[in-house]
Amino acid sequence: MSRSVLVTGGNRGIGLAIARAFADAGDKVAITYRSGEPPAGFLAVQCDITEPEQVEQAYKEIEEKHGTVEVLVANAGVTRDQLLMRMTEEDFSAVLETNLTGTFRVVKRANRGMLRARKGRVVLISSVVGLMGSAGQANYAASKAGLVGFARSLARELGSRNITVNVVAPGFVDTDMTRALSDDQRENIVKQVPLARYAQPEEIAASVRFLASDEAAYITGAVIPVDGGLGMGH
Ligand code: NDP
Repeated sequence: MSRSVLVTGGNRGIGLAIARAFADAGDKVAITYRSGEPPAGFLAVQCDITEPEQVEQAYKEIEEKHGTVEVLVANAGVTRDQLLMRMTEEDFSAVLETNLTGTFRVVKRANRGMLRARKGRVVLISSVVGLMGSAGQANYAASKAGLVGFARSLARELGSRNITVNVVAPGFVDTDMTRALSDDQRENIVKQVPLARYAQPEEIAASVRFLASDEAAYITGAVIPVDGGLGMGH
């Protein structure tokens, strides 16, 4: 059956791979983008998740065209790396505002329809560094760890309504976000990954799609690492 799926930040990187995976499976997929030309093949709605009115407007448009969102993938996220000494309040709060509060905003709005439908699937994209920590990424790691507590609280609140809330924690994935790293940094990262390579975005998408499938109906509050073994033990 074709479901109404929303992927935030679905215009590039991991989000685009996730959007394609759902579309290939026959779902009706909406994506959010902020600027530029969104990729073809999806219902693309312009939305900055740090702006509550834009989030509301995006949902209105999606509900009108695709019906209530049944699967939400909260993928949009940013980094603003800096050692603590040099990290400004702005660096800290901007990352929290997008990655954690922005996710709260889109999940809360999706929940309205899911409660009414008495079913729903929510998948949050966290990161291996939310659990391991990462020097120079205190803001980002805090935001990604926050998603775990957020998801697990919701799993408890919403389980009886047939709504599952899970987290995917990717390791290093080959996207614009990691292309911004220097060759040295990339090499050092690969040395620490048991599978000795970066992930392709499609490898993250496969887990997300599984968590939204019927086969995963009894999985909620889980944190699924897709990290080539980097975070083992956490
Ligand atoms: P990219 O930098 O390639 O893409 C980020 C996406 O998030 C873009 O679509 C961007 O939209 C969107 N976005 C950022 N801020 C906002 C905002 N305020 N409102 C709406 N959309 C926004 O990142 P990746 O694809 O690599 O990452 C996707 C997710 O996966 C992120 O949450 C990231 O933290 C996480 N992740 C990534 C890893 C990696 O190694 N790449 C590893 C672990 C987790 P726009 O195009 O408009 O800027």
